[in-house]
Amino acid sequence: MKALVWVEHEGGALKDATLSAVTAAGQLGDVHLLVAGQGVDGIAEAAAKIADVGKVHVADNAAYAHALAENIAPLVVSLMENHDAFVAPATTTGKNIAPRVAALLDVMQISDILSVEGPDTFTRPIYAGNAIATVKTSDKKLVLTVRGTAFAKAAAQGGSGTVEAVGTTGDKGLSSFVGAEIAKSERPELTSAKVIVSGGRALKDAETFEQLIPPLADKLGAAIGASRAAVDAGYVPNDYQVGQTGKIVAPEVYIAVGISGAIQHLAGMKDSKTIIAINKDEDAPIFQIADFGLVADLFTAVPELTGKL
Ligand code: FAD
Repeated sequence: MKALVWVEHEGGALKDATLSAVTAAGQLGDVHLLVAGQGVDGIAEAAAKIADVGKVHVADNAAYAHALAENIAPLVVSLMENHDAFVAPATTTGKNIAPRVAALLDVMQISDILSVEGPDTFTRPIYAGNAIATVKTSDKKLVLTVRGTAFAKAAAQGGSGTVEAVGTTGDKGLSSFVGAEIAKSERPELTSAKVIVSGGRALKDAETFEQLIPPLADKLGAAIGASRAAVDAGYVPNDYQVGQTGKIVAPEVYIAVGISGAIQHLAGMKDSKTIIAINKDEDAPIFQIADFGLVADLFTAVPELTGKL
């Protein structure tokens, strides 16, 4: 079987999520990559070095500059004649492209896979991760998105893939790029951070969140996350959200501050290696999954902890 993996990149750098997708694809068979964008020679070179990668298909064209799914999906479909599976990381971009590819190929998408059980059989979470479904498909072409935390990252070095330019399918004119406001941060990215400090509704407002959470995160070299309640209340931007409708994370250490532990939040972080919860309510559900719990008022506990670190 030949699998085509969508290479996610930003600002001239390959994103880590690609490496987990490569591992998943490798369990199906030969791994080919698709690098699409404008001025992506460097990305293609980096992609060719990923361990066990065969061919790297490169589509360098203005139509692909901003990874608009409406333009990328036809490009993927044009390559699917020679591939059996399209594999994308279950990131915002991957989740935007893959369903369009599936629709154009008239097959079902298998979303957010956790394991490859066979050439046509996969596991995936359902009910916000409270049950794991085993899905078997009879489709001739597979379209998969891969949960990054469920697969080890392929080695970024050591491969010697061949780079090959592919024809463009052009601008479909269905969407256009207007602009992007990217939050710039020196902190590690949420989905690849080893330590995450997350704040919830209890932080009261944006100002208090800013006063308490970043100093603790800075001491720990941690990324910052948040519950949906904190995002909805405007404490932080929505790309901080951890959970079923946010990011799925599995750091070494996850510190939940003033977060109750709703199942939709747990769906995004319960695979963290060590979970630490600070909550003033000893019956808060977060304590049921926490390895360490501190029943305390966060407004005194967090500054004290930050001060002692
Ligand atoms: P709350 O549930 O209000 O909890 C606040 C906690 O802070 C309480 O436990 C309280 O005891 C504690 N507290 C209060 N004051 C203090 C203090 N001074 N010191 C210490 N502790 C204190 N949520 C997500 O997070 N991510 C998602 O992706 C997500 N997706 C969703 C999808 C759907 C379809 C739906 C229906 C909901 C989703 N939610 C999601 C929302 C989720 O159900 C909860 O509403 C949300 O997670 C609650 O956020 P919270 O824990 O910050 O707030």
